[in-house]
Amino acid sequence: MVGRRVAFLPRHGVSHRIPPHRIPYRANIWALKKLGVKRIVAVSAMGGLRPEYEIGDLVLPDQFIDWTRGRPSTFYDGPVVIHTSLADPFCPELRGLLLETARETDFQVHGQGTCLSFEGPRFSTRAESRVFREVLGADLLSMTLVPEVALTRELGICYATCSVVTDLDVWGKEAVQANEVTRVMEENGPRLAKLLLRVIPRIPETQGCTCGRGTRPLFSHTEKHDSSLF
Ligand SMILES: [Zn+2]
Repeated sequence: MVGRRVAFLPRHGVSHRIPPHRIPYRANIWALKKLGVKRIVAVSAMGGLRPEYEIGDLVLPDQFIDWTRGRPSTFYDGPVVIHTSLADPFCPELRGLLLETARETDFQVHGQGTCLSFEGPRFSTRAESRVFREVLGADLLSMTLVPEVALTRELGICYATCSVVTDLDVWGKEAVQANEVTRVMEENGPRLAKLLLRVIPRIPETQGCTCGRGTRPLFSHTEKHDSSLF
């Protein structure tokens, strides 16, 4: 793209051989940082939990719930300790640009949503799906959003995700079929590419948000910790 350097990283590998629980999330985000990446526009297939969502709709999540189990989700495993604020986990500047641009396309767009990220690779049971939707208030399901989104904030990289609703999980009548998820994602590939090609030139050179500040260590490892603080 003229005037813009863009890196592309397929998180499941070029031929989709890496399952969600085996993706090297930390290595991926670290590699992007090393390449000089300042903003990440992620693209994901997600299960829809709301009756107003239709297959092929585009959702731009603004919140997430972490239902993963023990994935390494920080670059700081000690002795340096950090506590990242993720009250607003997605970059407001990127989300705004994506929303504005997506509305110019033929996607049916939903500008917000809470995404529950779970372990996978299996799909939900009907009981889990009901809990996610009715008890936890989730709007979307993803197997990959966490820890990707949290790791980017630690390194000061902006992050927003374009979620294509590929299925309605199992709260509807039909159970999810993996080949159907793949089919919907492939079908939406060209218009997702169109959206990315439109939005990338609109991203300003300098970050107009606070994501770039990253997360500062609570103490340097040479300082003594006051355990009463924790
Ligand atoms: Zn940002």
